[in-house]
Amino acid sequence: MSEYISREAAIRAINAVVSDIKAYSDKYCEGAEQKIFEQLVNGILSARQAIIEIPAADVAPIVRGMWLASEGEANAFTCEKCGKTVEFGAGTTKDNEFNHCPRCGAELHALYERQEADHA
Ligand SMILES: [Zn+2]
Repeated sequence: MSEYISREAAIRAINAVVSDIKAYSDKYCEGAEQKIFEQLVNGILSARQAIIEIPAADVAPIVRGMWLASEGEANAFTCEKCGKTVEFGAGTTKDNEFNHCPRCGAELHALYERQEADHA
C-alpha cells in the first residue's frame, strides 16, 4: 500500500540535514576532510532535487467523521459531514459494514466506535 507524504516536509527535513552537516563541517573540518563533506552535501542536494522533480500523486485528503443516529428512525444514520441519510432494513452502519458516505466519500464511524478507538 502506498503512503503519501508532504513534498514540502521532505524538503524541509533534507534542508535541516544539509544545514547540520555544513555546520559540523565548518566547525570541525578543513582541507580534504571538508571536501568530503562538500561531496556529501552535493549528493544530498541531488537527492533533494530528485524529490522535487517527482510528479505529484493524484490523492485527496481523507475526510473522517461520524454517522449520527437519526431521531425516530432506528436504522437510519446521517453523515455529519454532508447530511446524507442512509437507511438499512436492519442493523447499524457497523452491522452493515457501511463506513463511507455515499455522497461525500467521508470515512465515517459510529460514535460508539470512535469512543472505543479513543480508549485503545
Ligand atoms: Zn457525507
